[in-house]
Amino acid sequence: MASHYQPVKLLDSKMVLDRAARVEKQVSPDYVRISGASALALRLMPGRFARPFDFGGINILLNYEQGCFSDCAYCGLARTRPGAYEEKSFIRVEWPLVETDLLVERMARYEDKLTRLCISMVTHGHAYRDTVDITRRIVSRVKTPLSILVAPPTLNYQRLKTFKELGVDMIGVGLDAVTESVFEQRRTNVPQGGLKWKNYWDVIHWSREIFGPWKVNCHTLVGLGESDLDLIDMFYYLKEREIFAYLFCFNPEPDSRMGNEPKPHLTRWRRIQLVKWLIEERDLPREKLEFDAEGNLVYLKWPRQKVQEAIALGVAFMTNGCPGEHGEPGCTRPYGSYRPSEPYRDYPFLPDPEDLRQITEQLQLDGFVDN
Ligand code: SF4
Repeated sequence: MASHYQPVKLLDSKMVLDRAARVEKQVSPDYVRISGASALALRLMPGRFARPFDFGGINILLNYEQGCFSDCAYCGLARTRPGAYEEKSFIRVEWPLVETDLLVERMARYEDKLTRLCISMVTHGHAYRDTVDITRRIVSRVKTPLSILVAPPTLNYQRLKTFKELGVDMIGVGLDAVTESVFEQRRTNVPQGGLKWKNYWDVIHWSREIFGPWKVNCHTLVGLGESDLDLIDMFYYLKEREIFAYLFCFNPEPDSRMGNEPKPHLTRWRRIQLVKWLIEERDLPREKLEFDAEGNLVYLKWPRQKVQEAIALGVAFMTNGCPGEHGEPGCTRPYGSYRPSEPYRDYPFLPDPEDLRQITEQLQLDGFVDN
């Protein structure tokens, strides 16, 4: 199958990548990585998406020689994953290195096309200081709403308040694991791990207090060993607190400790996308969902016609992400949850009629919903 995303080489390599190669230390705050899709949107890299769509979400990642000091079992940047940091990928797409000032200049130039900016921190001693520096550089030139996907071990209440005072619009927390035991298994009890469930929740609750309703989001990952029941309980819990749940699909990173583990089955993934949307947008009552003894979602007591109407809208299957200024999809991270050669797990645009036909098939509705 043809690749959807075909970066060739940088338009002006002198300005971007090989310039970095001439500088001894290409680290934040003067250098950052950006997603391949962001590099395309800012014309820092030529290439195209096989299915064209407007793309305005710019994802920025702090860059350090030693990488991230956490060691999560599924992450491409994990400390004990083999390979030099420079060669590691993050959520399975290439993240080219770019000078921060050049990036800010490009964001200012293409501001009218941008929908959402995001700085992803990593666990590193300089991460907070450098995020403040980069945030200042961005907000002084660009008005597009800015999110920070935070690294909780580097933060406290006052630091979150400083982000708010600097003009940050939303806080994202990459909780990923939706239960304490899965979190411990994948993020705490790992060779160089030690991330703390409580620390993550402190940061979620502090952020909610400081930034307000629907200004905080929690990344939740399907496929780390949790049950459907665990995920669905988390969706209700977050909704009640006016915190967004954003859904991600586990996508094995080669050489990570979970590199050989399977992705969640497509039917499971689609049903979770659908039910999450019904909970959030149609107030689906909890008692309409039935689970087996292992916590697998086995039955949705909801009229088939209503389910089909929900599918036809297509929004349930789009990428979850921070909104643009007017509530439109802002951060769509193409290829965040699947390889360019695989079927879309989440769509960075509204699925078309053929996509919807495939989605309906993947959902296997017979026996799963009321007739
Ligand atoms: S959804 Fe996108 S913009 Fe929002 S916190 Fe996550 S990565 Fe950042």
